[in-house]
Amino acid sequence: MIGEMRERATGDSGPPPHGGDSEPAGHDPLVAFVRAMPKVELHLHLEGTLEPELMFELARRNGVPLRFATVEEMRGAYDFSALGDFLRLYYEGAAVLQTERDFYDLSRAYLHRAYADGVRHAEVFFDPQTHTARGVAFRDVVSGIHRALVDAEAELGLTSRLIMCFLRDAGVESAAATLTEAMEYRDLLTGVGLDSTEVGYPPELFAGVFATARAAGLRAVAHAGEEGPPEYVRGALDALGAERIDHGVRSLEDPALVRRLVRGRVPLTVCPLSNVRLKVVPDMESHPLRMMLESGLVVTVNSDDPAYFGGYLSDNFRAVQRGLGLDRAQLLTLAANAVEAAFVDEGRRARLRADLDVYAETAPLGAAAPGGHGV
Ligand SMILES: [Zn+2]
Repeated sequence: MIGEMRERATGDSGPPPHGGDSEPAGHDPLVAFVRAMPKVELHLHLEGTLEPELMFELARRNGVPLRFATVEEMRGAYDFSALGDFLRLYYEGAAVLQTERDFYDLSRAYLHRAYADGVRHAEVFFDPQTHTARGVAFRDVVSGIHRALVDAEAELGLTSRLIMCFLRDAGVESAAATLTEAMEYRDLLTGVGLDSTEVGYPPELFAGVFATARAAGLRAVAHAGEEGPPEYVRGALDALGAERIDHGVRSLEDPALVRRLVRGRVPLTVCPLSNVRLKVVPDMESHPLRMMLESGLVVTVNSDDPAYFGGYLSDNFRAVQRGLGLDRAQLLTLAANAVEAAFVDEGRRARLRADLDVYAETAPLGAAAPGGHGV
């Protein structure tokens, strides 16, 4: 059953659990089309890009014991029945991150991988509380990440924004203290977000913290409507001033909310492989992304925690294309939505838009895929 769930999560010939670059592009023109498409990623947790290989390397470097003997054994544990299962493993893995250099190495590995995957702009999340609670200095976390972002822009032209997320289940006081600590590094941050266990921690709890952050000029996003009900999406908009909703797939349960999101052009950062892995939806064929798109919602595709969920950004595009039979125009709309939803200045946005337009005009039209879905 578990093996079957995994099979269904990534498709018959989809990427293996480590995702990314092992599906031979030469066999399927759609894979090449999606990978070469210039993409913007808006929902990506840096800690969720920690591949087992790097986890073992950092564990060795820092003398941190792991309960898995091998990379394969660790990957074998990546079968989750719900968000809580995943989070336990995620926090365990994050314990190998201890020094400024560790955060640099983690971020650099993601950025280079993303660039090779066609990502041209990335807005990345980090969870400082996961690290400060273990005695790691906030400065080391933010400095290591920032240094990697700066280097990636200089070396690759990959631009980025850094968004600091509060862990809902760590409570309001901890979030407020984290924000206070972050103010020393205000210039390195673009926004704040809210993640981790959703149910039981409605957005309203964090209204004061978000008001303080917005008063300091930080943008606001929040995870809502993943495992939590549509009311949490409303709460994120009304109480937190969220400009984008991370996930938001359960918004569809509330037609009035859908109308509001469409009218306000509120972007939703949907993470298809994550949703299947965490059983938010039973399989990719029943993922609501296509319905969301056809409802007029500003939907984007993202990879969330790709090291744990079986695929990076192209893998997510490919999975929804295959599972839902999306056409070429819909794939380009998803990519264009992310350009419009990015927290960039208009110059950068125009450049990202132009690159995508050129690609749409010049990229070879994918022939019919083996599964029968053409683009
Ligand atoms: Zn997330």
